[in-house]
Order: sequence, then structure tokens, then C-alpha cells
Amino acid sequence: MDDGTLRPTSLAEYVGQQRLKEKLAVYLEAARTRREALDHVLLYGPPGLGKTTLAHIIAAELGVGLRVTSGPAIEKPGDLAAILTNALEEGDVLFIDEIHRLGRVAEEHLYPAMEDYKIDIVLGQGPAARTIRLELPRFTLVGATTRPGLITGPLRSRFGIIEHLEYYRDEELAEGVERDARLLGLGIDVEAALEIGRRARGTMRIAKRLLRRVRDFAEVAGEQRVGLARTRTALDRLGIDDQGLDRRDRAILRAVVERFAGGPVGLDTLATAVGEDRGTLEEVHEPYLIQRGLLQRTSRGRVATEATYRHLGLPVAAPAGSLFDEGEAP
Ligand code: ADP
Repeated sequence: MDDGTLRPTSLAEYVGQQRLKEKLAVYLEAARTRREALDHVLLYGPPGLGKTTLAHIIAAELGVGLRVTSGPAIEKPGDLAAILTNALEEGDVLFIDEIHRLGRVAEEHLYPAMEDYKIDIVLGQGPAARTIRLELPRFTLVGATTRPGLITGPLRSRFGIIEHLEYYRDEELAEGVERDARLLGLGIDVEAALEIGRRARGTMRIAKRLLRRVRDFAEVAGEQRVGLARTRTALDRLGIDDQGLDRRDRAILRAVVERFAGGPVGLDTLATAVGEDRGTLEEVHEPYLIQRGLLQRTSRGRVATEATYRHLGLPVAAPAGSLFDEGEAP
């Protein structure tokens, strides 16, 4: 990842997520004092909010090693066994990104590993096959997911710490932007950082990416310092509007309104209409649009709101029987 070097490495440097940080600080301190591995941690929330970063910080704060892998990489039990038996040392953190995509059988092998630090390995095949049980070092599993609903009950119940990451406030995003600007040796005005924060849809990864693009525009214009005017024109040129929506977001909203008469429209149909992958639509675009009140999820499908029409600069044309009628009944 291009911004890897700027990742915060301690809890103190990690911006925002205050409640989560306070709790985590206690758990880390307790684990350190008891000289025990930290309980397994499940982090969930939309992409780019800092789950991976937090896994790195947990390992750094505990002074232990970190192994990184992902659900799709652990398809078979053998994949899991290889990671658990080769690389881990006592107390280490194993980070599994996209843990909801673990292979089903591999997941079942993970249960005893999490609970008793043991794993069963099958040697050989057919009637001659036998199972041996290996002891593992005590480790901390940090799992991350954008789809907590897809985590099975048995897996979920084996995490002692389950935490949700929240969208960042504009000021917090601005703080992250100012921090990166400092590390990049770039001067940036407070209002400019805030403007980036405002248009970063609550997501730290996006704020930091926008900073880099704005820096490009400022540099090419021969400016030493990033100001508000340059930031605004750069973000406009990038197609990021004042609510932080990009072209894809607007295409989604426009499709709901123009092609499906404001909805309801099913997720798959909508995804096909805008040429977007269903998962990206559901995990990346939709949560933010819903949070902004620009889209509603109903049992019959996705529906535009009054705000959708206003945002697209279209007259609010409420079809009969739409959600807008609510509250107007006698
Ligand atoms: P996720 O794993 O949730 O998709 P990442 O941990 O990869 O998100 O974070 C995305 C980017 O944002 C990284 O460059 C990371 O350094 C930065 N970042 C995320 N959260 C914070 C934070 N709280 N403070 C500072 N930087 C952050």
C-alpha cells in the first residue's frame, strides 16, 4: 500500500475512535501486566476506517510480532495450519483481514486454535489417514470484516473483544490530513485540511488519498502551501462534490432516480445498471449514501429520498405510494 509508511504506529497517534481507543488501552495494559496474550479481537466497519492499522498498533503496543493474512487466502485447513505452526511465536498477533471469507472447513479448524491453542492436522489420505494434534503458542487473533453479518455465530462467540469502527468526523479527518501533511513536509492551511475532511465521506483512507491528489495540483501550480481555494478546485476537478460523493456515487443515485423511477430497486439490478460489482456497491457506496440520507434500504429494495433528488438538482417528483407520502396522511 502506497501510504504504508505513514501508518500511525501507536494508539496515541491513532486519530479519533475515542471510545474504542480508551477501551483498548485498558485491555492492552491488562494483558501486558498479566503477561498474557490479549483476547482475540474482532474489528468491523466499512473499508478504510483503520482496522488494519489498529491490528499493527495492537502488536506494536504489546511488543509482539504480527502476521498478516486474509480470509480468501485461507481456503483449506492446511493453509491455516501452515500459518499457525510456522510463523507464530508466543504472544504474537495474527491478523486475518476479510475474515468473513474464510473457507468453511478452515474456519472449523480455527475454533480449537482460538480456544485451546491447538490444531488438528490430518496426515495422509484415505483409510491410512490419521490426525495429529499440535500445540500452538498462545496468540491473539485480530480479525477484520466489513460484513459482520456474514460472521458465523460459532466464530463470533470465540472473540473476547468485538468492536465497531465508526465513520470519522470532519475534524478528525482534518487532523489525520494535517498529520500526513506534516510527515510529507507539506504546508496546509487549517481550512484546506477541513475541506478535505468534509469531502472524505467519513473515511480516513479517502482523506489521505485526497490530500495526495490536492498536493499534486498545488505542486503543479507552483504553490508551496496548500490553501482552501486550491483544495476546492482540485477536489472539484476530481469530481468529488460538496458531500464527498464521487462520480460512481452520483451514477448510483441517478440510476435509482432515472432508470427505476426512484425505486424500489433490488441490489443486483442496481449493480448491473451501473456496471458495479455487487459487493462494492453494498460495502463501499451504499453505507455512506444511506448514512447521508441519500438512499434508503427497504425490504423491497433501494429507494431514493427527497434528499437524493435535491442532491442531483432534480425536482422532487414523488411517485404515488412512495415513502415521501409518509407523514402527509391525515
Ligand atoms: P481498513 O483496514 O479498515 O480498511 P486501514 O487500516 O488500511 O483501513 O487504513 C486506511 C488508511 O488510513 C491507512 O493509510 C491508515 O494509515 C490510515 N488511517 C486509518 N485510521 C487512521 C487513524 N485513526 N489515524 C490515522 N490514520 C489512520
